[in-house]
Amino acid sequence: MPGSEPDLELINVRLPLEQDGGLFKLTVRGGIWSAVEAQQGPAEPDGHIPIGDAGLEELSDAPALDLQGKVALPGFVDAHMHLDKAYSIEHVRNQSGTLREAIEGYRSLAASFSKDTIKARIVKAALASVSFGSLTLRSHLDVPLHLGREVAMRTVEAALEAREEVGSFVDIQYFPMFYYDPAKDGEMTAFAEETLRMGIDGVGGAPHLTPDPEQNIGWAFKLAAGFGRLIDLHIDESDDPAVKTIDTYCDHIVRNGYSGKATAGHLCSLSAMEQPEADRLIAKMAEAGVGAVTLPAVNLYLQGRGDSGNVRRGVTRIKELAEAGVPLAAASDNIQDPFHPFGRGDMLQIGLITAYAAHLAKEEDIPKVLSMLTNTPAAIVGLTNYGIRPGFPAGFVVLDAASGESLLQELPAARWVYNKSRWIHASQIKRQWAKRS
Ligand SMILES: [Zn+2]
Repeated sequence: MPGSEPDLELINVRLPLEQDGGLFKLTVRGGIWSAVEAQQGPAEPDGHIPIGDAGLEELSDAPALDLQGKVALPGFVDAHMHLDKAYSIEHVRNQSGTLREAIEGYRSLAASFSKDTIKARIVKAALASVSFGSLTLRSHLDVPLHLGREVAMRTVEAALEAREEVGSFVDIQYFPMFYYDPAKDGEMTAFAEETLRMGIDGVGGAPHLTPDPEQNIGWAFKLAAGFGRLIDLHIDESDDPAVKTIDTYCDHIVRNGYSGKATAGHLCSLSAMEQPEADRLIAKMAEAGVGAVTLPAVNLYLQGRGDSGNVRRGVTRIKELAEAGVPLAAASDNIQDPFHPFGRGDMLQIGLITAYAAHLAKEEDIPKVLSMLTNTPAAIVGLTNYGIRPGFPAGFVVLDAASGESLLQELPAARWVYNKSRWIHASQIKRQWAKRS
């Protein structure tokens, strides 16, 4: 109601995405940003509680908080994850560190993971991500239909149940990785259509790993268009410069009117190509309107395994894609599984790895890196009212840092997360030091 007290008032907030080093006062009413006002300087607290002093309960009862110059960002959008595989490394390791061994190792155990196991992994990884400030996740799903329909459907059911369980904290989109073999068209089409009817969001896959990539891409578009869904494929996750399914993908995007509705993850081989060919494909991507997602942690780990000496890093051409106007996000990909032994669902960690991998470390590069974790993936996954702006939903994370650059310098452990009209996670920062007796 206009004129009523806000649910929440925050003073002395820094908003590094606004490209303004100043302080802001923010107000929330009914879970929506009602005002975002630049302050003239530091504001005197008037009953405002310092955010670092409050635990989750005190925070929830406090209508006014002093952020003391800390940074707030709209909730991170982790646009490419594999929540169903997270934390499986205790069961399946990767001795060679290659993509091939990761796929074969996971597949050899896929049938042994129960629905409850998969569901528990998704819930754990999703909530870990929330604790670091991610509020929208897009996860690919492993659906090994060749191991039997029940095995493939198990992951889909686990994923939908897990989403229900964590739905008051975080929004999750699912894109199963349909493995299209023309010899088994009918079986896969029936399975895929059923998952979309059950509530699966869009169409995924990895055409460069299938018997006929071109047919796979055509099939994926027919399926997605038939259901009016988005498409998000693993594209060219390979060091081999001859692997270029992105070429065909762009043709299909244009032909099917999928500009702005199709995403390409990885694009590793693009970095291995000769410059003129890479230039041609990047220009084609910009023209086609495809969104790109780089997964630098996983690519640094899995790619370049056949090289010695000057080892290729596998990370796509981040700067060149961005300069050509291709929307480019960075994301987690795998967390503690045979595809990536590290990671914790922390987009700030991914931002730092991206900054290293792409040589994005000048002061003016920092907002670009932060956009790759926030605004750009939000657009890629289809969020239309994303950001700290009046009228938009107030889903945000406060981080214990005084600037965008210090986010990457300090990787602050302390985070406070607000979503869907309430605080959902809080760190307390009372540093204590031992006294000398
Ligand atoms: Zn992936």
